Amino acid sequence: MKKYIFVTGGVCSSLGKGIAAASLGSLLESRGLKVRMVKIDPYINVDAGTMSPFQHGEVYVTDDGAETDLDLGNYARFTNSPLSQANSITTGQVYDAVIRKEREGRYLGRTVQVIPHITDEIKQRIVKIGEEPEVDVTIIEIGGTVGDIESIPFLEAARQFIHDVGDDNVIFVHLTLVPEVAGGELKTKPTQHSVKELREIGIQPDILLCRTPYKLDESMSRKIALFTNVHNDAVISAYDVKSTIYEIPLVYHEQKLDEIALQKLGIDAGPAQLDDWEKVARIHNETDRVVQIAIVGKYIELHDSYKSVYEALVHGGIANNARIQLVKIDSGRLEKGEDPAALFEGIHGILVPGGFGQRGSNGMVMAARYAREQGIPYFGICLGMQIMIIEYARTILGITDADSSEFSPDGPHSVITLLEEQIDVKLYGGTMRLGRSETHLSEGSKIHRIYGDKVIYERHRHRYEVNNAYREELIAKGLNICGVTPDKALVECCQWPDHPWGIGVQYHPEFKSAPRNAHPLFKSFIEASIGS
Ligand code: GLN
Repeated sequence: MKKYIFVTGGVCSSLGKGIAAASLGSLLESRGLKVRMVKIDPYINVDAGTMSPFQHGEVYVTDDGAETDLDLGNYARFTNSPLSQANSITTGQVYDAVIRKEREGRYLGRTVQVIPHITDEIKQRIVKIGEEPEVDVTIIEIGGTVGDIESIPFLEAARQFIHDVGDDNVIFVHLTLVPEVAGGELKTKPTQHSVKELREIGIQPDILLCRTPYKLDESMSRKIALFTNVHNDAVISAYDVKSTIYEIPLVYHEQKLDEIALQKLGIDAGPAQLDDWEKVARIHNETDRVVQIAIVGKYIELHDSYKSVYEALVHGGIANNARIQLVKIDSGRLEKGEDPAALFEGIHGILVPGGFGQRGSNGMVMAARYAREQGIPYFGICLGMQIMIIEYARTILGITDADSSEFSPDGPHSVITLLEEQIDVKLYGGTMRLGRSETHLSEGSKIHRIYGDKVIYERHRHRYEVNNAYREELIAKGLNICGVTPDKALVECCQWPDHPWGIGVQYHPEFKSAPRNAHPLFKSFIEASIGS
């Protein structure tokens, strides 16, 4: 019998439900189970692709080109669950599918309603993800907070699972907040209310993960258990970890989260093998090697905007026995005339991540120039690679007005131009060059050595590319175009000459990095930064 775990959130958003769900997934995997992860986003957008990073954080891209919620990135970093379009369900997708069926006449004249048609569509999608015979458990994270109007159909579908699969095969984990008020007292009332809200819609949580600043004492967890009708042992302190989120599986395991979940689901599994997580936490906490990496971008204020990039840097650190200090720099500061020497003082490496729109792009160009001229390791990702090209054209080729046509649509020297396939594209959603594709690396190049492979597969999300009209001139002036598409039509990777580590990639390697398996480019970039 297939097993399902629903993860809901109470009191307020941003408590780390995705990391909690992913940590639980990793604990179950560590006991030998096959897990699938699903994220439900109750917003009406069909996917996260059309949302600004300021609104919803980073857009995570899967191999099949789905533009999804950033929690899929958490799943990828913590678990081995395959992730594709199917693992990200939104209200927009569900209604779109139901309305399409209605237009096709597939409801045979019936009135189409939230219950059962919308809820059936939701349930079918969830069941489908775990349908392969080897899958033991599907973990479904319901985004938003219990009590939101938008989540009601999803919670109702979750409730119906009890009816459909039997209560031995489904459990509910509720992540909630136990805040500290002035005077240092922890308060349980918000948790009581959010559980009450869940129970009103027919869901009794089996396990509570209580977000607290520190571990709950026995009397406090007993009180919560009593008021919420949850077993004492199943009130778990999801307290703030001191240094790294990768300790969270260990914190949960110590409080027997995996054991309790398995017991309630009636699963017999082997003991947890957590050596790899222990190693990650140990390196991160014990190393005294600290590397300062500057990230120069325009969505700096919100940590979630470059989530996978930040995490991949941490992974690169772990692989080099080092801890990363992220120094977030708004590229606008360089444009306003701040001195790069002062801004980058003490910095070991500079990374320019992906991005859209003109604002801040000249500041990024200045950062790239500084890194190139000063011999500071530089990693350009997507927009960050395009910035490298613009800088090289302006400074080395002497084309002072070189730019991307994204930023100067009528500019005379667009060294970055719209991909040909994009010229007639009118719709915004899901229309970029998206997902996994093949890149051929130049034999013997540094990037070839880093990957250890000539043919690589990485994920893309962009509309613009290096303008081939300038390719020869760039190469003639020393730029190494060291990665191209198999037909050689698109530039995928470039490298500065005579520089310790100056690499740009048109794709997003950060999506494939994990704490237990750092992406080779991040590992190599941090290694070079340590030496700089
Ligand atoms: N805006 C650039 C493009 O569309 C870069 C995109 C990105 O960095 N993801 O090509």
